[in-house]
Amino acid sequence: MTAPILPGAEIGVLGGGQLGRMFTFAAARLGYRVAVLAPDDDTPAGQVSCREIRAPYEDLETVGRFARSVSVITFEFENVPEATTDAAAQYCPVRPAGSVLATTQDRIQEKAALRRLGIPLPKYAVIERDTDVAAAAVTFPGKSVLKTARWGYDGKGQRTVASGAGIAAAWKTLNSARAVVEEYVPFRGEISVVGVRGVDGAIALYEPVANRHANHILDVSIYPAPVSTSTRNAAHEIARAVLEGLQVIGVLCVEMFELQDGSLVVNEIAPRPHNSGHLTIDAHVCSQFEQQVRAVCGLPLGSTAAHARAAAMANLLGDVWSKGEPDWSAALATPGLQLHLYGKEDPQIGRKMGHMTVPGADSATAERVVLASREALASHGSPAWTPR
Ligand code: AMP
Repeated sequence: MTAPILPGAEIGVLGGGQLGRMFTFAAARLGYRVAVLAPDDDTPAGQVSCREIRAPYEDLETVGRFARSVSVITFEFENVPEATTDAAAQYCPVRPAGSVLATTQDRIQEKAALRRLGIPLPKYAVIERDTDVAAAAVTFPGKSVLKTARWGYDGKGQRTVASGAGIAAAWKTLNSARAVVEEYVPFRGEISVVGVRGVDGAIALYEPVANRHANHILDVSIYPAPVSTSTRNAAHEIARAVLEGLQVIGVLCVEMFELQDGSLVVNEIAPRPHNSGHLTIDAHVCSQFEQQVRAVCGLPLGSTAAHARAAAMANLLGDVWSKGEPDWSAALATPGLQLHLYGKEDPQIGRKMGHMTVPGADSATAERVVLASREALASHGSPAWTPR
């Protein structure tokens, strides 16, 4: 077993977004220093780190120097190229491994890996050339969802198609030859499980969270998810099998559709802390970000127990700024509400700017309160800001 990387050491993060910012807070609390490498400067993570290196991920010389200067590297941006993690891995451990990242960057590879592990998936077909499109139209005569193999997130690179006849036209608009077609899943609900696996193979899993999306972007997460014990157990079994099967060291989130009979199929996985796990910062003993710090540093994993009976998290997209500066005092006056802003200057429509979490005695109340608080934010803003 490799020796743990102890507090005082410097952790390198590839990517400068909000996930890196919240990771940095958790690392700093445990006495680590964090250095961020990202293609921009003044990034959400860079603002709160001790060092921010601005370099494209393709600048492998700088990546190598960065890796030599830290004790371990993790990532918060899912599209870091494999060549970058390979270059870094020559000088320090990269956790999770770049191979895990490479698998999840490509829906075709991700689905193949999950299928090999026996994970239940929606029925799907791979499209790589014209003839695959014709075959898919036969396999999926009804409603289906077409997704690009790479660079798809928050609904980007996705088209819902009403019938098989529409697949060809939708594929052309994707501007990406490699894609997958999935059956449209008439799900009862969407849930996710955030889990973590340590250097020693230990696994810890949070209870499933229920997620609601708006315009394909996560809108609200609710803990605990209103699912039966057997669905909860199945969700945990799936998450455990993925963490073990991919030999992940770090946090991984599994997003699942719950079918009408309570069974589950996996929509996608992300080998990093996830938006649906943000509520663990305020509602749980050890947050998903602290778990990531512990796992990549080879420390014992933390408790996944909640100290709140229930909680709800609402995302704050740039849309909240559409009437001007949000009325922060209205939200901050809500008892128990925790506001998280990511330090981004440019509140574009659909851009994740922050989130709010409200713990509560039950999830319905927590959800009502967090939604009302978000509503209050947006209704009194000053008209100074004009949305793009
Ligand atoms: P994704 O980018 O794959 O996470 O998809 C974003 C959202 O689109 C999901 O959370 C679902 O709400 C919806 N979605 C994606 N795939 C399907 C599908 N096969 N059937 C029904 N809804 C889907």
